[in-house]
Formats: sequence, C-alpha cells, structure tokens
Amino acid sequence: MTLLIIGAGPAGLMAARTAARLGLKPLLFESLPNPGDLGHPCSGVIAPVPGFVSGFRRADGLHFPALDLTIPAALVVGAPTVQRYVSPGGIAFEARFAPRDDFPIAVIDKSALLRTLAEQAQGDGADLRFGTLVMGLLKEDGRIVGVRTRAGEFRAPLTLSAEGVSRRFTEAAGLYDGVHVPKRYAFIVSETLAAPAAQPAELGQISTLGRRYTSAPPPVFGSVVIPAPGRAEVYLSLFGDEPQRHTEASLWHYLEEYKANDPRISGLLAGSRVLSRAGTRMTLRPLPPHVTADGFIGVGDSVGPGGHVGILPCLYLGQQAAQVAAQALGRGDTSPKALSAYERLFHGPFQRGLDTEFRIINGLAGMSDPELDRVCETLSKVNLAAFFFGEWWPMLTETARWLVRALPLILRDWKLLRRMMDR
Ligand SMILES: Cc1cc2nc3c(=O)[nH]c(=O)nc-3n(C[C@H](O)[C@H](O)[C@H](O)COP(=O)(O)OP(=O)(O)OC[C@H]3O[C@@H](n4cnc5c(N)ncnc54)[C@H](O)[C@@H]3O)c2cc1C
Repeated sequence: MTLLIIGAGPAGLMAARTAARLGLKPLLFESLPNPGDLGHPCSGVIAPVPGFVSGFRRADGLHFPALDLTIPAALVVGAPTVQRYVSPGGIAFEARFAPRDDFPIAVIDKSALLRTLAEQAQGDGADLRFGTLVMGLLKEDGRIVGVRTRAGEFRAPLTLSAEGVSRRFTEAAGLYDGVHVPKRYAFIVSETLAAPAAQPAELGQISTLGRRYTSAPPPVFGSVVIPAPGRAEVYLSLFGDEPQRHTEASLWHYLEEYKANDPRISGLLAGSRVLSRAGTRMTLRPLPPHVTADGFIGVGDSVGPGGHVGILPCLYLGQQAAQVAAQALGRGDTSPKALSAYERLFHGPFQRGLDTEFRIINGLAGMSDPELDRVCETLSKVNLAAFFFGEWWPMLTETARWLVRALPLILRDWKLLRRMMDR
C-alpha cells in the first residue's frame, strides 16, 4: 500500500524508512535535488528527548534504540559542554553538561545523517524522488487523496506532510482552520566560520539576549554555536509581523554588527573567517489544534510552532506517524479517528515541551535590556542542566534550591518571569 510523503528532512525520511520496514510502499517527494541538501540553516545539536527518545554513547557512535538509529562516530562533530544565555549586562544563566554516556549531547553532521537515512530508506524499498516539487494536494469530498507534483499526479489513501515550516500543505489540509492568530515571521541569518579563538572549554551554545549591539529593530536574538574547537556558527534571529519587514542586505548588515560589537561573543570570533552563509524566513504559528485530517498526517516542523521542533523529535514523530499510518492502512480506514493515536501522542507532554521552549524564546526576545538583566540575575541561581536531562528527582531538588536561594528575586521579578513564559 502506498504512503505519499512530502519532504526529505528528518521527519519525512524517518517516516519513509519506518513505513518501508513495515511493508508499505512509501513514495517521497523532495524539491531539493539531492539527499542531505538542507532547506534551512541548522546547528545540528542533538540530545535525547526525555520520556520519548533515550540514547547512549559508545566508541562507535550514538545509539538511539527506540529509533533503531546509530549515528556513527564519524558523523559526530563535537560534544557541547555548555548552553549559556547572557543578558546585556553580562549576567549568565546556563546549563553545564558533564559528559554522560547515558545521555549523549552532541553536534552532528545533519547533512550526512540525512544521506544515511535516505540510503537506509531506499535500501528498505522506499521510492525517494528528489528534485520533485509538490504543488498541491488532491482533495475529493473533503478527503486528501493524493498530491500534484511537477512530475504529475499521484494518488494514495494517505499523505504524510513533512514539508517543514512552509506549512503549505498542513494549512491546505485544514489543520490550522479556526486558528485566527496574526502571522509572525522569524528572519534568521547564519554564518559558519573558522574561529581559531574558540577553545574546547567553549564547546556549546551561547545566546546573547538583548539588542544593545545591533541597530536592528527589536525583537532580535543572537547566538553562537561552537561545535568543535576552531569552528563557530553565528545566528541572528529577528522577528516581525510582515513578511517583508527586513531586506536581505539589512539582515547581513545586522549580523556583521552583532559579530563586531557584542563583547559577549566578539572575543570568541577574533581572527575568524567566513566559510559559508545561509538565511531563511519562517512563519511562526501556534501549534495547530489537529495534526491529522481525512487521509492526511502532519509531521515535524510542518506542525511545529517556529521551525525548531528539533532533529531527534522530528525523527521520533516521523517514526510514530508512519507506524500509525501502517495500522490505519492495514485496517483500510484513514479517517481522523483511525489516526487518533498519533493525534494523542502529539497533543500530550510532547506538545507542552515544544510550546514551552517556543514561549521562552518569544518571551525573552520581547524584553528590554534592563528587564533581561533582571531575569538573568534571577535565573542565574538555578542549575538548568537538571531540567535539561528531564530526570524528576534532580529537577525537584534543583527547583527547591532555587526557590530558597532566589526567593526575594523571584518575588521581585514574578511578573517578568511570567512574561518570559509569554503569558
Ligand atoms: C537556525 C536553526 C537552527 C536549528 N538548530 C537546531 C539544532 O541545533 N538541533 C536541532 O535538533 N534542531 C535544530 N533546528 C530545528 C531543525 O532543523 C528542524 O526542527 C528539523 O530540521 C525539522 O525537520 P522536518 O523534517 O520537519 O523539516 P525540514 O528539515 O525543514 O524538511 C522539510 C523538507 O521538505 C521539503 N519541502 C518543502 N516543501 C516542499 C514541496 N512543496 N515539495 C517537495 N518538498 C518540499 C524541503 O525542501 C525540506 O527538505 C534548527 C532550526 C533552525 C531554523
């Protein structure tokens, strides 16, 4: 039985591989010409997803048994040790990661991982058509019955969209019907640099909050990933209500200002040389009320808030969606009711996790510099790593310690902390 898939990112390729292994005939369309081509910039930082995807590190690479996935050591670029957020006044709150083989955090070569997944999916019998743009969905009596591509029409009882942030087909399938929130846009420009000053102790990510160091209109958010000694990736994210809010030239200008003027990162980038550049515009939306329709499933960033569902969560969603699809196709029923197991999975703790991260970034990006200093001062009293690992006991004890250590600050900044959660 044929399962149509749109997009060969992590979600689509994992869905294709899983579907093929379950005996379906996945037929995947990807507009980019080759496996491993990336439609948008990505730092490639991965970590297990507590409660969903566990993993461990061995000499030969990273293993994620639930995904039946090994990322060979050759695709692991580095192991981050810190995730740090720094306020305009230089106050940091951070997660420091001691290396743990039972919870591997790593920077990987995402292109190579996608190529590996494509090879595995093809080896298992999936038909992957690169360089094939999907132009529309075929609908009959309110059901999705296939897709229209540059290469013609293709029909199947179920279509899975893993199209990423364009959300063209998840919108056309009606998943966002009834969501009347004005669209917002994120404009992201990035550079990969040879950065001789980036030392092993700095492996990880530093996000510099506030807008003091660029002339960009707020809100704006900069970050630098050090995936390996001597290498850096710089990202600048700007937000706005209109799709034409920024010209490409102005975005590169702001990035240059950020690199040159922000003392929290300029030392790291001393003597650096640009190796490559990328940019993208993403539409930000609240999560859709439904992720399935009659004959249709939305997966990965195509149903995420802002293009940051993440590589491992997308692999997991792709796998789960394909499993539900196989059961539904086996029963000959691809109605939303038959797909409800995927709906329940998505709209549980999974959704809350996605939502929280998105809210925090949005909340912080909208604050003034003095407000960010205060929030960072309060949060600097908590060890974020405990929350990152998702283990209940360390989370509870760390929260209790934070409440005791920072109670006056928490009371002072209660409203700001709520705003950080975008509430
Ligand atoms: C700046 C930035 C940094 C990030 N850093 C990280 C990170 O460090 N770690 C992490 O885990 N995640 C990161 N992410 C998020 C991560 O990249 C995404 O969550 C993930 O790639 C989404 O996977 P996906 O398969 O849903 O979609 P995508 O990877 O976006 O793939 C969608 C595919 O669909 C194709 N497509 C779209 N429309 C059509 C069409 N009409 N016809 C045919 N093909 C089509 C696209 O070409 C694309 O290949 C980052 C994202 C951004 C923007």
